[in-house]
Amino acid sequence: MARASAEIQRSGDSEFYAGLVDLASEFLCVLRRDGTMAMANPAWRRFLGFPPESFDSLSVLDLIHPDDLERIIPPAAVSDAALSAEGIVGRVRCADGEYRPVSWRLLPAPEPGLMYMLGQDVSRPGSAAALGAELDQLHLDLTALGEMRDNLDLCLTIEEGCQVIARFCHEAMNGWPGEVWIVNSSRNLLERIASWGPGVEDPQAVVMMEFTDCWAMRGGRRYAIDRKGSELRCKHLPPGPERSLCTPLKGPGEPFGLLTTWGSASSGDPSWSSYLRRTDAVAEVLSMGLANLMLRESLRSQSIRDPLTGLFNRRFMDETFDRELARAQRHESTIGVIVIDVDNFKQFNGEFGHRAGDSALIELAAVLAKSTRTEDVACRMGGEEFGVIIPGVPLAVAAQRAGAIADAVREITVMGEDGERLGQITVSMGVSAYPDHGRTRETLVAAADVALFEAKHNGRDRVCVAESTSDPPTPGSA
Ligand code: GH3
Ligand code: MG
Ligand code: MG
Repeated sequence: MARASAEIQRSGDSEFYAGLVDLASEFLCVLRRDGTMAMANPAWRRFLGFPPESFDSLSVLDLIHPDDLERIIPPAAVSDAALSAEGIVGRVRCADGEYRPVSWRLLPAPEPGLMYMLGQDVSRPGSAAALGAELDQLHLDLTALGEMRDNLDLCLTIEEGCQVIARFCHEAMNGWPGEVWIVNSSRNLLERIASWGPGVEDPQAVVMMEFTDCWAMRGGRRYAIDRKGSELRCKHLPPGPERSLCTPLKGPGEPFGLLTTWGSASSGDPSWSSYLRRTDAVAEVLSMGLANLMLRESLRSQSIRDPLTGLFNRRFMDETFDRELARAQRHESTIGVIVIDVDNFKQFNGEFGHRAGDSALIELAAVLAKSTRTEDVACRMGGEEFGVIIPGVPLAVAAQRAGAIADAVREITVMGEDGERLGQITVSMGVSAYPDHGRTRETLVAAADVALFEAKHNGRDRVCVAESTSDPPTPGSA
C-alpha cells in the first residue's frame, strides 16, 4: 500500500491513518473520478480477492452491479457534489465472479477528485442499521484516534502521555471505564499509568501488578470475559462488572503494556463486536504511540544520565544549576552546593579490582539518590566525583546534609561477585552556597572544590565548608 499511502498523505492525512486503515476490518478505498482506486486497504483487497497487481487497473465502477451503480456511486458524487451520508447496500463482483452485498458510504476526501469509500461486508452478522451506525462510529473513532496519536507524538515523557491517554480513551471507549498499564523498568511488573471513567480506583494512586495477574498478558493476546463469575477472571479487574476486555499493547515483540476496560455490553449484542474492533484500534494506536514515547524518553534519559550510576550527568547538572541560579536570583533564595570525591579510590581499585570499584560507585550513587529530594539534583560529575545541588537551602543546612551523606557512605559495604564482603569507602566533601560564595555556577563549584581540597588535605573522610568571602565585587565597589 506504499503508493496508496503517498496519495493519502497528499490528500492531507497522516501516515498514521494509513497504518490504521491497514488494520481495519472495514473496507476502505480512495477512489479517483474514473473509479480506479488510489488506495485499497487489506480488508477490501481480501474481500475482492483479485491478484494484487490487477488493482491498479481495476475500476470500482466495473465491479458494482449495474443495477446498484447509481445508488452506490451517484453521478453527483463522481462530479464532485455532496457525497452520500448514509450507508447504501449494493452488490459487488468479487474475483470468483460472485456478487456479494456490501454496505457503502462515500466521504469527501480533502483533495479534489478523490473520495473515500468506507464499507462493510453485509453478509456478516448484524443488521444494516447497526452497520450504518458502526460506520459512523468508525469514522468518528478514526478522527479521535488520529488526534490521540498526534497528541502522543507531542509528548516528551510517559507522564505527559498519561494525561493524553486518559482524556482520549475516556472519549474513545464510549463510556466504558478502563486503565492502561505498562511494564516497569525492571520488566517484571506492570504499572498503571492511566485510568478513566466511573468506578476506577483513585487515579493518582500507584498501582502495580504481576504479569501473571492478567490472562491477556499471559497469552499475549486479547482476553474477553462476557459473563459474571468466570473462573478465569483477571486478578487486576475491579469486582463489579460482568464484562471485560484486556488487550496487550505490543510492537513486533513481547507485550509491553495492557489496555483493559470493563462494562456491560453483552457478547450476543452487535455493539459487542464493534466494541471489540474499537478496542483493538485503540490498543493499536496506544501501542504505536507508547512505543514511540518510551523510545523518546529513553533516548532523552540516555542523554542526561550517567549510564553506570543512573545519576544525572555533568551536562544536565550544569543546565539545571544555571536555571536554579536564575530562579534563586529572582526569589532571593539560596542554593547549597556539595562536591564529593571518593577517598583513595585508585587504591580501592588496585586492591579489589575495577569491577568492585564500579560497585562502590553504584552504591554511593544510591546513597545520594536516597538522600536528595525531588527538587535536588545529584549528579556524577565524572570519575569518582559527584555533585549535589540543593535549591532553597542555606550554607549551614547544606553542610548538615553533607554530614549525613558522609555517615551513610560509611555504612556502605562493597560486596564481591560471590557475595563476599570487600572494602568500605569514605568520601571527602566541599560545601558552598549561593549567594555566600558567588553568583555563578563556576565560582560556586570552584569554592566547593577548594573546600574539598582542604578536606583531603586535613585527612579525608570529612566535610569542609568553603570560607566565607566578602560579596563578589560588583562594578564600582572595588
Ligand atoms: P583521593 O583520595 O586523593 O581522591 O585519591 P584517589 O585515588 O581517589 O584519586 P585519584 O584521582 O588519584 O584516582 C581516582 C581514581 O578513580 C582513578 C580511577 O581509576 C578511578 N575511577 C574513575 N572512574 C572510575 C570508574 O568509573 N570506575 C572505577 N572502578 N574507577 C574509576
Ligand atoms: Mg578525584
Ligand atoms: Mg578520589
